[in-house]
Amino acid sequence: MNAPVEPLHKISFVMHGVAAAPGIAIARAQLVSHATLEVAHYDVAPEQVPAEIERFENALEAVRAEFEALHERMKGEDAPAEFGAFLDVHWMILTDIHIAQDPKLMIAEQRCNAEWAVTQKMNELVEQFEQFEDPYLRERAGDVVQVVERVVKALMGKPSELPLLNPRHATALVAHDLSPADAIHFKESAFAAFVTDVGGATSHTAIVARSLGIPAVVALHNARSLIREAEQLIVDGDNGLVIVNPDHHVLAEYQLKQDAQRLEKQKLRRLISTRAVTLDGAAIDLNANIELPGDVAGCIEYGADGVGLFRSEFLFMHRDDLPSEDEQFEAYRAAVDGMQGRPVTIRTFDLGADKRMPGLGDRPSENPALGLRAIRLCLAEPKLFMTQLRAILRASAYGRLRILVPMLATAHEVRQTLSFVERAKAELKAQAIAFDHDVAVGGMVEVPASVLALGYFIEHLDFLSIGTNDLIQYTLAIDRTDDAVAHMYDPLHPAVLKLIAQAIRTANKAGTPIAVCGEMAGELRLTRLLLGFGLRNFSMHPAQLLTIKQRVLTSSIADCEAAANRILRTDDPDKISAAIARLNAL
Ligand code: PEP
Ligand code: MG
Repeated sequence: MNAPVEPLHKISFVMHGVAAAPGIAIARAQLVSHATLEVAHYDVAPEQVPAEIERFENALEAVRAEFEALHERMKGEDAPAEFGAFLDVHWMILTDIHIAQDPKLMIAEQRCNAEWAVTQKMNELVEQFEQFEDPYLRERAGDVVQVVERVVKALMGKPSELPLLNPRHATALVAHDLSPADAIHFKESAFAAFVTDVGGATSHTAIVARSLGIPAVVALHNARSLIREAEQLIVDGDNGLVIVNPDHHVLAEYQLKQDAQRLEKQKLRRLISTRAVTLDGAAIDLNANIELPGDVAGCIEYGADGVGLFRSEFLFMHRDDLPSEDEQFEAYRAAVDGMQGRPVTIRTFDLGADKRMPGLGDRPSENPALGLRAIRLCLAEPKLFMTQLRAILRASAYGRLRILVPMLATAHEVRQTLSFVERAKAELKAQAIAFDHDVAVGGMVEVPASVLALGYFIEHLDFLSIGTNDLIQYTLAIDRTDDAVAHMYDPLHPAVLKLIAQAIRTANKAGTPIAVCGEMAGELRLTRLLLGFGLRNFSMHPAQLLTIKQRVLTSSIADCEAAANRILRTDDPDKISAAIARLNAL
């Protein structure tokens, strides 16, 4: 029995979440389901095979009935013609031999469960579609997945959603959760916004959304279940709101806001080649954070002084094997070449918490953020680390490149890391392979322990970069990916501010360059505060650079310092917020 198809409801409602990436999108919802990603694989006893095949046939029949019901419904509604075409494509896929017949053979031959058989066949078909040169045909791989999702859901006894997506509309992706790997995958798709039930503002998923320059709202809890396919959404990434089926007045108001934002962005472009200097003459370095070498185009476009953080681990998601030295070398060199002589800071792999690679850092851990993550994992996997260091060093022969090491917490880790770098250099030297002998090696300040014992880091490293995302997580004991505590994740907690100010001041005093590359660096509300702490180097998503530059150009260090000192003297959150608001109003 298939579930009855409910009529599309047009009830307007507002959902409140966490603002993860700024901007406004007006778009149709596209629901992302992970049903096909989660299927179990189990053996079926020989005598159960006919029943398993029947179960599969019943699921196909249920989906066929859903399609028929949809078809009928559309006749009664003034649905655009392309919806009908979409449905036809889905119907064809459902009746295709790969989906309708091959899984049955697989169940019989391999004695496996139906969900597993149909998703394996789906993967084969998707692979074939992805080989097509014609972009239209390539895009049909997505339809194959959507159809199989329905079949899997029918097998699991879950109701399906309605795929009434108009390909001409802007599309907002609505998911219960997106892994950083999913999010980076979506980088190639032209989504207008991301909306998720879980995640925090500095989860890596949110960071990817920000790097795409599209609005995102996370931690909505019930978005995936309350929003329906193709419903109209206003995603207000500035205020963390999603308005579902807005009425005409609200829509008109947001269209005006969207136009005003577009105009403002346009105006900011005048600052691309302006040097970021404060009113009292302090020069500020404004760098960019990237995830993939292709992102350097955005860095150049927005006039970045360099790449302050290349999250190298994103390069190699969506693959089953480890990247070779040559592959990595090509990727790092592409980034260096693309930056046209501006410095590029490559962070060594930060894998093991929410960013995983098959076979590495996949060990089950109760507390992955406190486990074998980042430099800890690299030091435990010498082959992985040496391969990466050799690749980075080789790329250093082609431009200004620096190595940044994530999550250092102990002197021992610093020592071990530096000895790995020396070993990689010695190997290359022995093989007569070119590299920059003076390549700078820096450390990320992300663990409170490193701030409190910064002396050792300053003595042994060439530069520092504060990862505020993790520093906040580890200072406040708030999992940055957990929506249940997302509201407690507070960059303005006095303990966080004191640690950041202390790290900057200690490094400045010692003459060790220090930057902030966590999300706080791109937060307009915090620019003056950070300037007041003594920060002169910010690294953020390229799309944020011009807004921050405009703020720098209208700021006076003297005012910022006076306010920052007052803020550091209080532990009262209300006073801190009020003082920041006053500073920003100057
Ligand atoms: C940080 O922790 O602030 C940081 C920049 O690193 P990531 O967000 O990749 O953990
Ligand atoms: Mg970090």
